[in-house]
Amino acid sequence: MAGDPTDTPLVISAGDGCFIRQAIDNMGWCDMGDYILVVDALEDAPLEGEVMAAIAETVGDKPVRYVLNTHTHYDHVSLNGAFVDRFGAEIVNQRTTTIDPAGRVFESPGRKVCMIPMPGCHTREDCVIWAPDDRVLFAGDIFGWGLIPSGGLLNAELRGLLRNTYQRLIDFDAEIVVPGHGPVCGAAELVRWVEYFDWLLETVGGMAAAGKSDGDIKATVTPPDDMLGWWRFVAWKHADALSKVLTSARRGALDA
Ligand SMILES: [Zn+2]
Repeated sequence: MAGDPTDTPLVISAGDGCFIRQAIDNMGWCDMGDYILVVDALEDAPLEGEVMAAIAETVGDKPVRYVLNTHTHYDHVSLNGAFVDRFGAEIVNQRTTTIDPAGRVFESPGRKVCMIPMPGCHTREDCVIWAPDDRVLFAGDIFGWGLIPSGGLLNAELRGLLRNTYQRLIDFDAEIVVPGHGPVCGAAELVRWVEYFDWLLETVGGMAAAGKSDGDIKATVTPPDDMLGWWRFVAWKHADALSKVLTSARRGALDA
């Protein structure tokens, strides 16, 4: 059996001075000339030494001036304090500061990084970070390798928000999409997820409307073949997505 790609953390070079640390919890950093900008800060505080060493090894001994959090769930912020203590870094997320809906831009002579609020898919504080020179998009937990990012009932408003947000992500035409967790991917996986989402809504919604039982629906709506290799998708994400759609169908949200 092939190993889980997140068993061993991997530092991926995504352009000159832009790096992604791929693991169960992802983070990244960009060389901004005089300083380093970090995106997300993991769940495990004991990783501090390893992360600081990886940053110094790849971009040199420069101060981390900004830490951008895609959202403030515990698994994205645990090293925030370490960056503050070591460098006096400014923590930037939708709790610490007001971010213009059009985005906040961090610019150095060789690189631009944009932090753009896209609230509502996973949390009210969601932001994505887009590095246009590197064509890298940090999508946070908006993309979860098959997960429906929201826990809310899938009424028309939420369905529209998810589709619109995904379209905005797809329109970046990123070369590397960094999910909050698991292997990096590309824009094609974002496109595929929207198709999967629409297929689930239609298939599960249709079967529920036709009076099929939960057991029947769960046995019939199996993971699509081309998504069998998606990270942790067959193990639990497909079942989770199916169950969210089914709950929404049973509560009448799909018609609303
Ligand atoms: Zn997360």
